[in-house]
Amino acid sequence: MDTEKMKKGEWSLAELYGGYDDPKFTADAAELDRLIERSDELSKALSGDPRENLHRILDLWEQLTELSSKLMLYVSLRQSACTTDEKASSLMDQFSGKFSRLAAPETLIKQYIAGLEDLDALIEADGLLKEYGFMLRNIKEDARYLLDARCEEIISLYENSGSSAWSNLQSYLTSTVPVKYRGETITLSDVRNLAYDPDPQVRKDAFHAEIDCYDRIKDAVAFSLNSIKLEVLNRCRLKGFESPLAETLHASRMTAATLDALLAAIREYLPRLQPFYRYKAKLLGHAGGLPWYDLFAPLAAEEEKYTKEDARNYLIERFSAFDGELTEMVRTAFDEGWIDFYPREGKVGGAFCAEAFPIRASRILTNFAGSFNDVVTLAHELGHAFHNLNLYDNRPLNRDYSMPVAETASTFNEVLVMNDAIRKASDPVKRRSLMHEQLSGDLQIICDIYSRFRFESAVFENRDESFMFPPQLCEMMLKAQKEGYGDGLDWTEPHTYMWLCKSHYYSGGLSFYNWPYAFGGMLARGLYACYEREGAAFVPRYKRFLKATAVMTAEDAGKVAGIDLTDVNFWRSGLEGLAKEVEEFGELCR
Ligand SMILES: [Zn+2]
Repeated sequence: MDTEKMKKGEWSLAELYGGYDDPKFTADAAELDRLIERSDELSKALSGDPRENLHRILDLWEQLTELSSKLMLYVSLRQSACTTDEKASSLMDQFSGKFSRLAAPETLIKQYIAGLEDLDALIEADGLLKEYGFMLRNIKEDARYLLDARCEEIISLYENSGSSAWSNLQSYLTSTVPVKYRGETITLSDVRNLAYDPDPQVRKDAFHAEIDCYDRIKDAVAFSLNSIKLEVLNRCRLKGFESPLAETLHASRMTAATLDALLAAIREYLPRLQPFYRYKAKLLGHAGGLPWYDLFAPLAAEEEKYTKEDARNYLIERFSAFDGELTEMVRTAFDEGWIDFYPREGKVGGAFCAEAFPIRASRILTNFAGSFNDVVTLAHELGHAFHNLNLYDNRPLNRDYSMPVAETASTFNEVLVMNDAIRKASDPVKRRSLMHEQLSGDLQIICDIYSRFRFESAVFENRDESFMFPPQLCEMMLKAQKEGYGDGLDWTEPHTYMWLCKSHYYSGGLSFYNWPYAFGGMLARGLYACYEREGAAFVPRYKRFLKATAVMTAEDAGKVAGIDLTDVNFWRSGLEGLAKEVEEFGELCR
């Protein structure tokens, strides 16, 4: 452990490497080169006994995964803790270059696996292959959508100057556009952060400054959106996906029936959730719906401050009522240098949790400033770490889970902490402020996410027929937002440029990067409802579920937890809880 760093509230990375000049680091980097060469050789020498070949492939892939994740983790953690670390940036580039050399041999190897006629029989007859059954069958299934190696290569090369370049343009323009705010020039992310300011006039001025700045960049960003979406539509057609949504569901290992059940339940419950915004509007002194510029307004309440030790003790106490293993992990995370706590110059903003499987641990970055919200953020990230912990004993290639389940354990932890805090808050103002905190987040992933899903669907539906200029995109955005927020919001000054500032729409490889938030959030709530019903008996099933997320479809993992994700009633149960909370919040506002 790096106790010097830990004293300053920084994480310890000594468990990985002692530095870029650590002989272990140099040796591992050289070993990576050897493994990449071996991949190339192996991909060209796959004749003979298929069982033996599969063993050789899996053995090599396991080594590659362990080694590359350790090297990349070390460099990327150092980079996020210090973005001006030039050595880290150049190493990241070097490693990315190395990994792209794996694309061709991996395609050949996957084609080999997909071509094995008796794959099922091979899997059933061998212990190791059985453990990797889900992965191997997926490779065969995915091959249906694989073009020949040359076409795949051409597509991936053209994506560099296509969707990725368009995506870079969107992020370049949104991060460099000058925003004129009260006589000063600030950045878009600065002005968007002012939406959380306690001063109402600041929020309103910031909103107008934000909307004004989009005028300078809207045309270029509209070209970017139109081009990315067209590329996705064309790729889907070439590969044989029915639609971009079908491609996303395929990558998520989930069926359309499950998504339909979720969306149907959301549509049913929206009218009971939207009043939340009118209650909030009333508290802030507005007559009708909530103006967009007050969507993220805080409710003034004296905040208690937490030190990192307070946060540690608070979380240990909360989690100990749930599970000993989670509590023990939280203690280890705080005491053994898993967490980089405080903001400092050059460190990235926000918070994340990174798996560190090679050392059976995780690393968490936060920008802890001592608010209760920061404690909840820690609970969230520790949820990711707990998900990782439940995958330690899976084999190295059986530890990846899909996007929709990725936020389940983290949201579950948040619900554990928030529900407990709300239960214990006897003062109605304090209770109202906590409920506001929780409902703001929960309804964001229902109302806003629903509108994003509707908007993106409409863009894909229109794209073949027409090129959409900014006025049309704004109109489509407004229509989608009205579906999500209903009369909860005041529509005299809407934010119709949400299509421009959300980077989620600008990925060629990842379409519909929206419903997984609603899915993960409501899945966590549904699981929490099970826990409330069954108490301690539910906990082992919850852990088995987390373990299963990496080796099963979403629906099968759901079955492990005892739930049917295709059943609209499961989603209703979580939403019913939310609707009741909105009602209580309404009472507390009177
Ligand atoms: Zn998260």
